[in-house]
Amino acid sequence: MSQIDAAGAQRAAVPTAAPDTAPLVPDTHGLTVWAEIDLTALEANVRTLRALAPASDFMAVVKADAYGHGLLPVARAALRGGATWLGTAQFAEAFALRDAGLTARLLTWLSVPGSDFAGAVSRDIDLSASAPWVLDEIAAAAAEVGRTARVHLKVDTGLGRGGAYGADWGTLVARARHLEAEGTVEVVGIWTHFAHADSPEHPTVLAQQERFFEAVAEAEQAGIRPEVRHLANSAATLVHPSAHADLVRPGIAMYGLTPVPQVDDDFGLRPVMTLRARLALVKELPAGQGISYGHAYVPDVDTVVGLVPAGYADGIPRNATNVGPLLVEGRRTTIAGRVCMDQLVVDLGPGSRAQAGDVVTLFGGAPGEPTAQEWADATDTISYEIVTRLGARVPRLFIGDVPGTSSPDGPDGARRA
Ligand SMILES: *Cc1c(COP(=O)(O)O)cnc(C)c1O
Repeated sequence: MSQIDAAGAQRAAVPTAAPDTAPLVPDTHGLTVWAEIDLTALEANVRTLRALAPASDFMAVVKADAYGHGLLPVARAALRGGATWLGTAQFAEAFALRDAGLTARLLTWLSVPGSDFAGAVSRDIDLSASAPWVLDEIAAAAAEVGRTARVHLKVDTGLGRGGAYGADWGTLVARARHLEAEGTVEVVGIWTHFAHADSPEHPTVLAQQERFFEAVAEAEQAGIRPEVRHLANSAATLVHPSAHADLVRPGIAMYGLTPVPQVDDDFGLRPVMTLRARLALVKELPAGQGISYGHAYVPDVDTVVGLVPAGYADGIPRNATNVGPLLVEGRRTTIAGRVCMDQLVVDLGPGSRAQAGDVVTLFGGAPGEPTAQEWADATDTISYEIVTRLGARVPRLFIGDVPGTSSPDGPDGARRA
């Protein structure tokens, strides 16, 4: 698990004598590639987003190892910033949060027949149901554990992915009412997800919202009394106040990246992840000497190249070949030649004074640094994928973690000096 790997790397990297008061800036000496995770920025982003939806509860979406940022430190920082709920896709992610001692309301939503519903119910985790078989498995688990399971019914309002679509919604609601009467299940939420929230003017946004409130009314008529109705991801939290409802579920915005890059506004969000590496080698190469596999880059003058010890095993997209932006020696440049499994090369130019050990920034948020969005634009994807795909072997170094909020016995105990 990346959590444990990261903790191990952190133990090696952080001097134990550092004071535990000021925000910790980790010592990166000797590390090849690492991600600095600014938890102070994350906390501030949660506050910024909360202020946009002040009347709604706030579910911090921490699926996929908190979009690659590190599940437990991010979840704790989000709660410090005012998040009232946590959300994960996979059960194992939710179990990890509970087993680390986090007690906030917690929803997990992706299950298959045979998923460990009993494990979820016994850990007081809310579950999502998109079909009657899910409700039946949840009810059986609840009976086994001897508790009432809390369920959020998911309606497909037009995403065409999870949720009950069309007339299936009525069937799902009826099944839930039956199980509520039996006492195994309590419906505490009704929810859905947008298809086009990132295109603020798209007509489906309002259509989905209307269908959602219709579905809520239908469930309420059948006797369901949901505590929370929720549909807003980051984009809707930022640009569709009418979708805030009882609870918002931001993911990407919490990490300081915008879901609407075409909108010229950073919404006051600060990027949380900065990916850096140290040059492993600097050397001169003559004009005409092709660089890296396939010689996809050939310098036309004698030049100096630097070897960056980060590759697609670390999550650097291979199609960043010749286009991925970097900051080195205070200057912007691009990757020279193919991205390999563990390494890539940068053309530092004939006059370079760079040395092995110099720090290279791949992306971050400080002035002059390339952003995850620029990487996404260069490689034809979205910023979500750039941060989430970061490899498990890249240590996450946490800045601004707060002493006393981590379990001293857990792997996170090592994240603070
Ligand atoms: C991932 C996810 C979110 C968060 O989406 P962002 O666009 O990152 O804000 C919210 N709800 C559900 C169901 C999700 O799967």
